[in-house]
Amino acid sequence: MKNPRLGCSTCPACGETRHTPDETLGIWAWEGICAGFNRCTRCLSSYSNTEFTADQIAKWYSERFPYVYYSDPIHYLNATNRIKFLVKRQWLPEADHVVLDIGCAAGLFLGALKQQVPAASYAGVEFLPEVAAKFSGKLGFPIVTINEIGANTADMVFMWHVLEHSLEPQVQLSAALRLCKSGARLAIACPNRHALGFTKRGAQWVWCQAPWIHCVHFTANGLAELLRRNGLSDFAFYYRETVDAFHMGFLNRPDWYPVRGGRLQPTEERPLEASETRYASPLHSCRFWHHGNSLRRIAIGTALSQIITPRHERSELICLVQVP
Ligand SMILES: [Zn+2]
Repeated sequence: MKNPRLGCSTCPACGETRHTPDETLGIWAWEGICAGFNRCTRCLSSYSNTEFTADQIAKWYSERFPYVYYSDPIHYLNATNRIKFLVKRQWLPEADHVVLDIGCAAGLFLGALKQQVPAASYAGVEFLPEVAAKFSGKLGFPIVTINEIGANTADMVFMWHVLEHSLEPQVQLSAALRLCKSGARLAIACPNRHALGFTKRGAQWVWCQAPWIHCVHFTANGLAELLRRNGLSDFAFYYRETVDAFHMGFLNRPDWYPVRGGRLQPTEERPLEASETRYASPLHSCRFWHHGNSLRRIAIGTALSQIITPRHERSELICLVQVP
Protein backbone atom coordinates (compact mmCIF):
# COMPACT_ATOMS: atom_id res chain seq x y z
CA MET A 1 0.00 0.00 0.00
CA LYS A 2 1.46 3.34 -0.97
CA ASN A 3 0.42 6.55 0.64
CA PRO A 4 2.01 9.56 -1.01
CA ARG A 5 0.01 12.21 0.82
CA LEU A 6 0.28 10.88 4.37
CA GLY A 7 0.92 13.72 6.77
CA CYS A 8 -2.20 15.80 7.59
CA SER A 9 -1.06 17.26 10.87
CA THR A 10 -3.22 20.32 11.58
CA CYS A 11 -6.53 19.84 13.39
CA PRO A 12 -9.26 21.08 11.01
CA ALA A 13 -11.42 21.92 14.03
CA CYS A 14 -9.16 24.02 16.26
CA GLY A 15 -5.98 24.53 14.20
CA GLU A 16 -3.67 22.79 16.70
CA THR A 17 -0.71 20.90 15.18
CA ARG A 18 0.14 18.65 18.14
CA HIS A 19 -1.46 15.21 17.74
CA THR A 20 -1.09 11.50 18.39
CA PRO A 21 -2.17 8.56 16.19
CA ASP A 22 -5.82 7.64 16.94
CA GLU A 23 -5.37 3.89 16.80
CA THR A 24 -8.85 3.07 18.08
CA LEU A 25 -10.34 4.23 14.75
CA GLY A 26 -8.37 1.74 12.65
CA ILE A 27 -6.55 1.79 9.32
CA TRP A 28 -8.59 1.94 6.10
CA ALA A 29 -7.73 1.11 2.51
CA TRP A 30 -9.24 2.07 -0.85
CA GLU A 31 -7.73 1.83 -4.32
CA GLY A 32 -4.18 1.46 -3.06
CA ILE A 33 -4.46 4.28 -0.52
CA CYS A 34 -4.09 3.44 3.13
CA ALA A 35 -5.19 5.97 5.76
CA GLY A 36 -5.98 6.36 9.45
CA PHE A 37 -6.69 9.14 11.95
CA ASN A 38 -4.75 11.58 14.11
CA ARG A 39 -6.13 12.82 17.42
CA CYS A 40 -5.71 16.49 18.27
CA THR A 41 -3.88 16.99 21.56
CA ARG A 42 -5.81 20.18 22.30
CA CYS A 43 -9.50 19.62 21.42
CA LEU A 44 -9.38 15.78 21.19
CA SER A 45 -11.13 15.73 17.80
CA SER A 46 -9.83 13.08 15.37
CA TYR A 47 -9.06 13.75 11.73
CA SER A 48 -7.76 11.94 8.65
CA ASN A 49 -3.99 11.57 8.60
CA THR A 50 -4.12 11.65 4.81
CA GLU A 51 -4.92 14.55 2.54
CA PHE A 52 -7.29 13.22 -0.11
CA THR A 53 -7.80 15.40 -3.14
CA ALA A 54 -11.22 16.87 -3.91
CA ASP A 55 -11.25 14.73 -7.08
CA GLN A 56 -10.65 11.52 -5.12
CA ILE A 57 -13.45 12.33 -2.70
CA ALA A 58 -15.85 13.35 -5.49
CA LYS A 59 -15.06 10.09 -7.30
CA TRP A 60 -15.86 8.08 -4.19
CA TYR A 61 -19.22 9.82 -3.68
CA SER A 62 -20.07 9.56 -7.34
CA GLU A 63 -19.28 5.83 -7.59
CA ARG A 64 -19.76 4.43 -4.11
CA PHE A 65 -21.81 6.57 -1.74
CA PRO A 66 -25.19 4.86 -1.19
CA TYR A 67 -27.52 7.90 -1.28
CA VAL A 68 -30.51 5.58 -1.64
CA TYR A 69 -29.77 4.36 1.87
CA TYR A 70 -30.89 7.81 3.10
CA SER A 71 -34.44 7.19 1.95
CA ASP A 72 -34.91 3.91 3.82
CA PRO A 73 -37.31 3.48 6.79
CA ILE A 74 -34.51 3.91 9.38
CA HIS A 75 -33.78 7.37 8.07
CA TYR A 76 -37.46 8.22 7.91
CA LEU A 77 -37.57 7.46 11.65
CA ASN A 78 -34.40 9.53 12.07
CA ALA A 79 -35.99 12.51 10.30
CA THR A 80 -39.09 12.46 12.48
CA ASN A 81 -36.91 12.22 15.62
CA ARG A 82 -34.98 15.29 14.46
CA ILE A 83 -38.28 17.18 14.23
CA LYS A 84 -39.14 16.12 17.81
CA PHE A 85 -35.75 17.46 18.95
CA LEU A 86 -36.38 20.81 17.20
CA VAL A 87 -39.92 21.12 18.56
CA LYS A 88 -38.61 20.58 22.09
CA ARG A 89 -35.99 23.35 21.60
CA GLN A 90 -38.49 25.69 19.87
CA TRP A 91 -36.16 25.72 16.88
CA LEU A 92 -38.74 25.68 14.08
CA PRO A 93 -39.04 28.07 11.12
CA GLU A 94 -41.61 30.86 10.93
CA ALA A 95 -44.17 30.86 8.12
CA ASP A 96 -42.23 33.46 6.07
CA HIS A 97 -38.82 31.82 6.49
CA VAL A 98 -36.51 30.43 3.83
CA VAL A 99 -35.10 27.11 5.07
CA LEU A 100 -32.12 25.23 3.62
CA ASP A 101 -30.92 21.70 4.40
CA ILE A 102 -27.30 21.36 3.28
CA GLY A 103 -26.34 17.75 2.54
CA CYS A 104 -30.02 16.78 2.40
CA ALA A 105 -29.55 13.48 0.42
CA ALA A 106 -33.10 12.32 -0.44
CA GLY A 107 -34.62 15.21 1.57
CA LEU A 108 -36.43 13.16 4.24
CA PHE A 109 -35.68 15.62 7.05
CA LEU A 110 -36.85 18.66 5.07
CA GLY A 111 -39.95 16.75 4.00
CA ALA A 112 -40.81 16.07 7.63
CA LEU A 113 -40.12 19.70 8.58
CA LYS A 114 -42.37 20.88 5.75
CA GLN A 115 -45.20 18.79 7.18
CA GLN A 116 -44.65 20.53 10.53
CA VAL A 117 -44.50 24.09 9.09
CA PRO A 118 -46.06 23.94 5.60
CA ALA A 119 -46.00 27.71 4.91
CA ALA A 120 -42.21 28.22 4.98
CA SER A 121 -40.07 27.95 1.81
CA TYR A 122 -37.76 24.96 1.59
CA ALA A 123 -34.78 23.91 -0.53
CA GLY A 124 -32.30 21.07 -0.19
CA VAL A 125 -28.63 21.33 -1.11
CA GLU A 126 -26.46 18.50 -2.40
CA PHE A 127 -22.88 18.65 -3.60
CA LEU A 128 -23.12 16.50 -6.72
CA PRO A 129 -25.50 17.83 -9.41
CA GLU A 130 -26.61 14.30 -10.35
CA VAL A 131 -27.63 13.60 -6.75
CA ALA A 132 -29.55 16.90 -6.51
CA ALA A 133 -31.32 16.11 -9.78
CA LYS A 134 -32.16 12.55 -8.69
CA PHE A 135 -34.12 13.61 -5.58
CA SER A 136 -35.22 17.16 -6.50
CA GLY A 137 -38.97 17.77 -6.39
CA LYS A 138 -39.89 14.32 -5.08
CA LEU A 139 -41.01 15.65 -1.68
CA GLY A 140 -42.36 18.99 -2.89
CA PHE A 141 -39.26 21.22 -2.79
CA PRO A 142 -36.22 21.70 -5.05
CA ILE A 143 -32.80 20.19 -4.34
CA VAL A 144 -29.95 22.16 -5.89
CA THR A 145 -26.18 22.55 -5.65
CA ILE A 146 -24.81 25.20 -3.31
CA ASN A 147 -23.72 27.54 -6.14
CA GLU A 148 -27.35 27.89 -7.22
CA ILE A 149 -28.29 29.67 -3.98
CA GLY A 150 -27.61 33.37 -3.54
CA ALA A 151 -25.82 34.92 -0.55
CA ASN A 152 -27.93 36.19 2.38
CA THR A 153 -31.06 34.26 1.45
CA ALA A 154 -31.70 31.82 4.33
CA ASP A 155 -33.41 32.34 7.68
CA MET A 156 -32.61 28.79 8.83
CA VAL A 157 -29.86 26.44 7.69
CA PHE A 158 -29.49 22.81 8.73
CA MET A 159 -26.30 20.77 8.37
CA TRP A 160 -27.13 17.28 9.57
CA HIS A 161 -23.93 15.22 9.40
CA VAL A 162 -22.16 17.31 6.79
CA LEU A 163 -19.07 18.85 8.37
CA GLU A 164 -17.48 15.50 9.25
CA HIS A 165 -17.50 14.63 5.53
CA SER A 166 -15.06 17.41 4.67
CA LEU A 167 -11.29 17.61 5.05
CA GLU A 168 -11.88 21.37 5.24
CA PRO A 169 -14.92 21.90 7.49
CA GLN A 170 -13.83 25.54 7.77
CA VAL A 171 -14.59 25.97 4.05
CA GLN A 172 -17.97 24.20 4.30
CA LEU A 173 -18.99 26.28 7.30
CA SER A 174 -18.01 29.54 5.55
CA ALA A 175 -20.04 28.50 2.51
CA ALA A 176 -23.08 27.84 4.73
CA LEU A 177 -22.70 31.15 6.57
CA ARG A 178 -22.57 33.00 3.25
CA LEU A 179 -26.13 31.79 2.58
CA CYS A 180 -27.42 33.04 5.95
CA LYS A 181 -29.23 36.33 6.46
CA SER A 182 -28.14 38.41 9.42
CA GLY A 183 -29.84 36.93 12.49
CA ALA A 184 -30.38 33.53 10.85
CA ARG A 185 -30.32 30.29 12.79
CA LEU A 186 -27.96 27.44 11.97
CA ALA A 187 -28.13 23.85 13.27
CA ILE A 188 -25.10 21.56 12.97
CA ALA A 189 -25.05 17.88 13.90
CA CYS A 190 -22.20 15.39 13.66
CA PRO A 191 -20.92 12.22 15.35
CA ASN A 192 -19.47 12.84 18.81
CA ARG A 193 -15.82 11.74 19.22
CA HIS A 194 -16.57 11.07 22.89
CA ALA A 195 -19.49 8.74 21.97
CA LEU A 196 -19.72 5.30 23.55
CA GLY A 197 -19.80 3.91 20.01
CA PHE A 198 -16.16 4.90 19.55
CA THR A 199 -15.19 3.78 23.04
CA LYS A 200 -16.94 0.41 22.92
CA ARG A 201 -16.72 -0.50 19.23
CA GLY A 202 -13.92 1.64 17.80
CA ALA A 203 -13.47 1.12 14.06
CA GLN A 204 -16.49 -1.22 14.03
CA TRP A 205 -18.92 1.51 15.07
CA VAL A 206 -21.27 2.52 12.26
CA TRP A 207 -20.25 6.21 12.45
CA CYS A 208 -16.55 5.42 12.42
CA GLN A 209 -16.20 5.39 8.67
CA ALA A 210 -13.15 5.58 6.44
CA PRO A 211 -11.14 8.81 6.72
CA TRP A 212 -12.10 9.88 3.19
CA ILE A 213 -15.82 9.64 4.20
CA HIS A 214 -15.81 10.86 7.80
CA CYS A 215 -12.69 13.01 7.57
CA VAL A 216 -13.15 14.62 11.00
CA HIS A 217 -14.71 13.35 14.23
CA PHE A 218 -15.47 16.42 16.34
CA THR A 219 -15.60 16.86 20.05
CA ALA A 220 -17.81 19.68 21.34
CA ASN A 221 -14.62 21.62 22.17
CA GLY A 222 -13.33 21.17 18.62
CA LEU A 223 -16.61 22.20 16.99
CA ALA A 224 -16.91 25.18 19.35
CA GLU A 225 -13.42 26.32 18.34
CA LEU A 226 -14.32 25.98 14.65
CA LEU A 227 -17.42 28.14 15.23
CA ARG A 228 -15.41 30.79 17.11
CA ARG A 229 -12.86 30.90 14.28
CA ASN A 230 -15.81 31.77 12.01
CA GLY A 231 -16.91 34.67 14.20
CA LEU A 232 -19.74 32.78 15.94
CA SER A 233 -20.14 33.04 19.69
CA ASP A 234 -23.86 32.50 20.42
CA PHE A 235 -24.39 28.72 20.38
CA ALA A 236 -25.45 25.79 22.57
CA PHE A 237 -24.55 22.09 22.45
CA TYR A 238 -26.87 19.11 22.87
CA TYR A 239 -26.14 15.38 22.91
CA ARG A 240 -28.52 12.82 21.46
CA GLU A 241 -28.80 9.11 20.75
CA THR A 242 -30.07 8.19 17.29
CA VAL A 243 -31.79 5.20 15.77
CA ASP A 244 -28.90 4.39 13.47
CA ALA A 245 -25.94 4.91 15.79
CA PHE A 246 -26.78 3.57 19.26
CA HIS A 247 -23.72 1.42 19.94
CA MET A 248 -25.70 -1.64 20.98
CA GLY A 249 -28.30 -1.09 18.27
CA PHE A 250 -29.38 -2.36 14.94
CA LEU A 251 -26.68 -1.10 12.58
CA ASN A 252 -24.00 -2.33 14.92
CA ARG A 253 -25.29 -5.89 14.75
CA PRO A 254 -23.60 -7.38 11.67
CA ASP A 255 -25.95 -10.36 11.79
CA TRP A 256 -28.98 -8.06 11.60
CA TYR A 257 -28.08 -5.60 8.92
CA PRO A 258 -25.78 -6.18 5.97
CA VAL A 259 -23.80 -3.00 6.53
CA ARG A 260 -20.52 -4.03 8.08
CA GLY A 261 -17.66 -4.87 5.77
CA GLY A 262 -19.45 -3.79 2.61
CA ARG A 263 -20.38 -0.55 4.39
CA LEU A 264 -23.90 0.65 3.69
CA GLN A 265 -24.44 -1.22 0.49
CA PRO A 266 -27.97 -1.64 -0.86
CA THR A 267 -29.00 -5.23 -0.47
CA GLU A 268 -31.15 -6.09 -3.46
CA GLU A 269 -29.18 -9.23 -4.11
CA ARG A 270 -29.39 -10.67 -0.62
CA PRO A 271 -31.86 -13.56 -0.37
CA LEU A 272 -34.88 -13.13 1.90
CA GLU A 273 -34.72 -15.11 5.11
CA ALA A 274 -37.79 -16.51 6.83
CA SER A 275 -37.69 -13.93 9.66
CA GLU A 276 -37.44 -10.90 7.37
CA THR A 277 -39.87 -8.50 5.74
CA ARG A 278 -39.19 -6.55 2.60
CA TYR A 279 -39.73 -2.79 2.99
CA ALA A 280 -40.19 -0.25 0.25
CA SER A 281 -38.62 3.10 1.10
CA PRO A 282 -40.84 6.18 1.58
CA LEU A 283 -39.61 7.41 -1.81
CA HIS A 284 -40.02 4.01 -3.45
CA SER A 285 -36.56 4.51 -4.90
CA CYS A 286 -34.93 1.58 -3.19
CA ARG A 287 -35.71 -1.55 -1.27
CA PHE A 288 -34.00 -2.87 1.80
CA TRP A 289 -34.30 -6.05 3.78
CA HIS A 290 -35.23 -5.70 7.41
CA HIS A 291 -36.13 -8.10 10.14
CA GLY A 292 -39.85 -7.92 10.79
CA ASN A 293 -39.88 -6.24 14.20
CA SER A 294 -36.71 -4.26 13.80
CA LEU A 295 -38.08 -0.73 13.46
CA ARG A 296 -40.02 -1.05 16.69
CA ARG A 297 -37.01 -2.49 18.47
CA ILE A 298 -34.86 0.37 17.21
CA ALA A 299 -37.34 2.99 18.41
CA ILE A 300 -37.52 1.38 21.88
CA GLY A 301 -33.72 0.87 22.05
CA THR A 302 -33.08 4.48 21.11
CA ALA A 303 -35.54 5.80 23.69
CA LEU A 304 -33.87 3.64 26.36
CA SER A 305 -30.40 4.71 25.30
CA GLN A 306 -31.33 8.38 25.78
CA ILE A 307 -31.78 7.51 29.43
CA ILE A 308 -28.94 5.06 30.09
CA THR A 309 -26.13 6.66 28.07
CA PRO A 310 -24.30 9.48 29.88
CA ARG A 311 -25.09 12.77 28.13
CA HIS A 312 -21.58 13.57 26.86
CA GLU A 313 -21.14 10.00 25.56
CA ARG A 314 -24.21 9.91 23.32
CA SER A 315 -23.66 9.34 19.62
CA GLU A 316 -24.63 12.68 18.19
CA LEU A 317 -23.45 16.18 18.91
CA ILE A 318 -25.90 18.94 17.93
CA CYS A 319 -25.05 22.61 17.99
CA LEU A 320 -27.73 25.30 17.63
CA VAL A 321 -26.15 28.55 16.48
CA GLN A 322 -27.52 32.09 16.36
CA VAL A 323 -25.81 33.82 13.43
CA PRO A 324 -24.96 37.48 14.25
ZN1 LIG B 1 -8.20 20.29 17.66
